[in-house]
Amino acid sequence: MMVTRLGSLNALEQEKENPFWRKRLGRRLPSADTMGRVYSGMDPEPIRGNLRHVYLRLRRNKAIPPTSGVHALVLDGHESCASYLRSCPGCLQRTFHTQEGDRTQYYHRNVVAMLLGDPFPLLLDTEEQRPGEDEVAAATRLSRRILSQYARAFELVVADGLYLRADFFRLFIERGKDILAVLKDETRDLLEDARGVFPLEKASAEEDGRTRRLVWDVEGFESWKSLGREIRVVRSLETRTCRRQQSGETEEQTSEWIWATTLPRTKVSTSAVVRLGHLRWRIENRALNEMVNYWSADHVYRHHPAAITAFWLTLMLALNLFRAFLSLNIKPSHRAGHSQLYFARLLFADLSGENSLASAQGLSPP
Ligand SMILES: [Zn+2]
Repeated sequence: MMVTRLGSLNALEQEKENPFWRKRLGRRLPSADTMGRVYSGMDPEPIRGNLRHVYLRLRRNKAIPPTSGVHALVLDGHESCASYLRSCPGCLQRTFHTQEGDRTQYYHRNVVAMLLGDPFPLLLDTEEQRPGEDEVAAATRLSRRILSQYARAFELVVADGLYLRADFFRLFIERGKDILAVLKDETRDLLEDARGVFPLEKASAEEDGRTRRLVWDVEGFESWKSLGREIRVVRSLETRTCRRQQSGETEEQTSEWIWATTLPRTKVSTSAVVRLGHLRWRIENRALNEMVNYWSADHVYRHHPAAITAFWLTLMLALNLFRAFLSLNIKPSHRAGHSQLYFARLLFADLSGENSLASAQGLSPP
């Protein structure tokens, strides 16, 4: 259902008479209602075990190369199921003040852990934010599990400014991991200290395609008192030249990025810190947006707290297998010029019994 982008349990149920199921499952497909009910009572641990199994196989096959010299773990929260009408005991809520009065919106948020990677990010695990806690609390629970299950998978954690908290940083530092996060106002003393120091330091100039950067890189800041150790701050002032589509005029856009990191300069260069900081943003956006836009991650298969996490984990497993299959099993000549959607359609054709198309391409499902 997920890989062939059917989009819902009901759409899957429409395929229940398909001989594919008798062949693969040895029985007919259960109804949409049964599948939803089973997911609501499902223990997520076996799905997590399957994700870990796929990770270990890929690692053994040396299919998880480092990015900019390090294996980096990315953590990020994602919202789903936002509704004014439907809620469940696991829903988070927020109030919007409107002209017609206050309205309560219900929603869910899951923190997703993935390994940055080429040619695809490897999705590892997810944890739901529970009512009454914040995203970092959910991320902390997820991180403890990742540190025990995937201790050797990464050397660096790359996170959003939201995670710039001393206790969250220490969780990884104590386990010998480095951490890199966008520096935001939450750590005001460090940010003010850094802003005071940068004008006194010499910036290095870099050019990367149409982007020019002035980069400051200073180690040894002690102003993040609650962290209890020194930290390095990297600032990148970027100017990008773009051409306006309508008028054809060129325009310069500037942006400022500041990161705080425990990575020492002897281990990771200034340019690599900038690259990793940007890569997190790109990959996280790409990976999560892609999950939502193309793989129906936001679809409420069943509005129930256990089901939402179990469906997320299943989607992560399906995507890892699908992407690994495309990049490792299919010959580059077969892959060239075709999108993931094309291969999803081939798999659906196979599912529908129209497998002549797939066999004509020399493909069989994973
Ligand atoms: Zn809910």
